Amino acid sequence: MLFDLTGKTALVTGTSGGLGAAMAIGLAEAGASVVAISSSNSNSTVEAVRAIGGQIEQISADLSKADTLESVFERAVGCFGKIDILVNNAGIIRRTPAADHSAKDWQDVIDLNLNSVFYLSQLAGRHMLERGSGKIINIASMLSYQGGINVPGYTASKHAVAGLTKALANEWAGRGVQINAIAPGYMTTNNTAPITADEARYKSITERIPAGRWGSPDDLKGPVVFLASAASDYMNGHVLNVDGGWLAR
Ligand code: NAD
Repeated sequence: MLFDLTGKTALVTGTSGGLGAAMAIGLAEAGASVVAISSSNSNSTVEAVRAIGGQIEQISADLSKADTLESVFERAVGCFGKIDILVNNAGIIRRTPAADHSAKDWQDVIDLNLNSVFYLSQLAGRHMLERGSGKIINIASMLSYQGGINVPGYTASKHAVAGLTKALANEWAGRGVQINAIAPGYMTTNNTAPITADEARYKSITERIPAGRWGSPDDLKGPVVFLASAASDYMNGHVLNVDGGWLAR
């Protein structure tokens, strides 16, 4: 029962594919109703949740537009009447060397990967603090710890997501709202498609992963259900690495 999410509503961002789709389906499998927000709609996520008898509503929104987030959040609350779990997953990456990194690439990444995470956490946080309970799960990265190459905006945003997770946890842990993060390792999605397409780089990364393989989006189902459920009620401000051992090496 510790992992049961029956009666809970989870708002998951970036659900049209990749990690967000798998986490939305995993939360529904654990019993949660899901509000799925993405810049583009995905019938496959909706169909997968409905196929297991789950409840899901989909909202199409560009979360990088900060001035629209309040109304998007209100629509999300309206779907099932409340939000118990927020998974801040939507994110983008722009790969250009730092010396050539354009102001637009920098801003686009910061707007979505960092600003939307703070503003949505603030909106959900107020809603959860009023009710004295809630779970917020941010999606960090190996680049919350490491520097990466050619992705300065992404690295800055993901370091900031780890810091924000701790900052909000300090303020809200005593008021019934747990905030933690998941830091995925190398997972096969659109985000990493340029790396998987580069045979030499793919091979060298795979060889460095102790588990000997890249992660699949389904590898995040268990960790997200854990952090969304009562099983993690005494965890606050933690960044949970789901990386096949990458950081242990
Ligand atoms: P993805 O590109 O497959 O999915 C990204 C999702 O975000 C999509 O559903 C897309 O529709 C949505 N999105 C993009 N721009 C948006 C916007 N402006 N407004 C609303 N939604 C928007 O990527 P993914 O690999 O599934 O990444 C999900 C998260 O995991 C990201 O935060 C990413 O940084 C993080 N991450 C991924 C990996 C990996 O190896 N794939 C590793 C570490 C962290």
